[in-house]
Amino acid sequence: MPRSTKPVPASAQPAGESRLPPEALRRAYEQSLEPIMITDRDNRIVSVNPAFCRLSGYTPADLVGHNPRMLASGRASPEFYAGMWQALNDKDFWEGEIWDQRQDGISYPRWLKIAVVRNPDGSVANYVANFSDINASKEVADRLAYLAYHDPLTNLPNRLAFESQLAQSLRICARENEQLALMLIDLDNFKNINDTLGHPVGDKLLQNVAVRLGEAVRSSDLVARLGGDEFVVVLADIDSPLSAARVASKIQQQLADSYRIDDQALYATPSIGISLYPVDGTDPSTLLSNADRAMYHAKGAGRNNYQFYSPRMNEAAGERLRMENELRRAIASIAPASCEFSIHFQPQIETASGRTVGLEALLRWHNPTFGQVPPSRFIAIAEETGLIQPLGDWVVWETCRLISLMKEEHGIANIRVAINISAQQLRHENLLQMVRGALACYELSPYDIELEVTESTAMHSPETTLSILDQLSAMGIKLAIDDFGTGYSSLAYLKHMPIQRLKLDRSFVLDIESDANDAAICSATIALGHSLGLELVAEGVETPAQRDFLADLGCDVLQGYLYSKPMPYEDTVAYLQARR
Ligand code: C2E
Ligand code: CA
Ligand code: CA
Repeated sequence: MPRSTKPVPASAQPAGESRLPPEALRRAYEQSLEPIMITDRDNRIVSVNPAFCRLSGYTPADLVGHNPRMLASGRASPEFYAGMWQALNDKDFWEGEIWDQRQDGISYPRWLKIAVVRNPDGSVANYVANFSDINASKEVADRLAYLAYHDPLTNLPNRLAFESQLAQSLRICARENEQLALMLIDLDNFKNINDTLGHPVGDKLLQNVAVRLGEAVRSSDLVARLGGDEFVVVLADIDSPLSAARVASKIQQQLADSYRIDDQALYATPSIGISLYPVDGTDPSTLLSNADRAMYHAKGAGRNNYQFYSPRMNEAAGERLRMENELRRAIASIAPASCEFSIHFQPQIETASGRTVGLEALLRWHNPTFGQVPPSRFIAIAEETGLIQPLGDWVVWETCRLISLMKEEHGIANIRVAINISAQQLRHENLLQMVRGALACYELSPYDIELEVTESTAMHSPETTLSILDQLSAMGIKLAIDDFGTGYSSLAYLKHMPIQRLKLDRSFVLDIESDANDAAICSATIALGHSLGLELVAEGVETPAQRDFLADLGCDVLQGYLYSKPMPYEDTVAYLQARR
């Protein structure tokens, strides 16, 4: 059967125009390996050749006189058939993929071509259909498409795919106002390995590198091989350039281990250059060439490291990452004796009586390299990296340990200690178990502690947060909203929260005497808080004037440098004993 777009059906060919006698044409039809079916003008089957019988599993007797519809597997829509008939009417020809069903019920795909054979007067005489094999050609087509966009050695997207995907990602970044990082990765000393151990070893090494690169990034990030030992990674929608630094250092770690290839241990450390959209470029070629320059700096800086295109980023990333690593190490080796962390306490004073009624536990980190690191710095890093979980747990345990020491060794009683809880801790049910465990372990009552949650935390993911706060409250633990006034909580919402205290943010107290606005907010907050039955605590009280002002407004508890800065445990004990 002809495969041209103008098939000429054998049996319908007027004999005079063919050089072959009709008998030869009949034999060709009978013996063709291509399955062929002929229907009449009403689309009833008049003939099928043996190849078609072998394909479908039916005998001619099963089929002749029936509509070919009986073969359909039911996968195609009415629209599909409408299109087919439209083409047959308009062009006397149709071709396309169909799924038919064999007599034994198995469906099979075929490339179907149907030609219309007309009588001399133009009316339809027959439809001739041939069913060619589809699998081979479809696989070949798929394979070709795959090869065009993939590197056959590593199966990673190739340069062509990378360029088109980067262009696409940049369009999205421009539209959504997002940042993107492009990393160019070049293996150190790869040429050496290739030259001395041979290409087959080099190839295996590249394949292993490709696998490890894939493991170092999210599945949504693009990893591609540009050629040779050059790879790229595109991180779309990064929240900060420093996340690119984190991924780069992860890649560095992943590639640092040796590779076992043909019983040899090989090393393929990377030099990584990073450019950022939009600061280092807004189009693919600028970003790539800037990443390339950064990569050469990395080579120049002794290989096996990463460099940003912008020197300022390098400083920030270096400092930030060193601190993150130090924090990670310090947390991993946390132990009461040789610990870089400690808890300081700041007293809380009852306004009316001047008595110390509570303490706030504040975390301190002293690092051999960085010295005393302010919490504003390292708590943020701990939150970004998830390290706040183990660190926050430690704060709870250590604070409980110190409370029990105060009670047992110094007879200090009736002092409630407030512990700061971060948003991430509050999202985990295990916070409850942990707090319960620490209280039980040190034989404390729920009244010995209080938990402080910032206003923004309390407002964030209210459903889960609320349920955990409810359970903590049910245990008898007092809850306070920290930094109140900095967020956007509605008091109506606060009514549904199981809280007992509001801590008025320091920023309002700071200007309370000079700024009429701040004074008004303080006064209104205190009044509204009281109307909801809440206790009001003012933080950051530094001057007697602020104290008097807050006392006049009826603020219940005061905390600030006026009374004491946060102090280590021993000083806290001395402070409390002196005021007993
Ligand atoms: P915060 O919870 O609002 O803690 C009060 C901060 O104000 C403390 O800073 C304290 O030293 C400071 N402060 C107290 N009185 C005064 C004052 O009169 N004047 C001034 N200028 N400052 C005063 P610190 O200790 O540096 O802590 C900063 C923040 O770090 C805390 O703010 C809290 O958000 C966070 N933090 C500290 N320890 C922990 C902890 O164990 N866990 C968590 N999740 N966060 C903590
Ligand atoms: Ca606090
Ligand atoms: Ca606060």
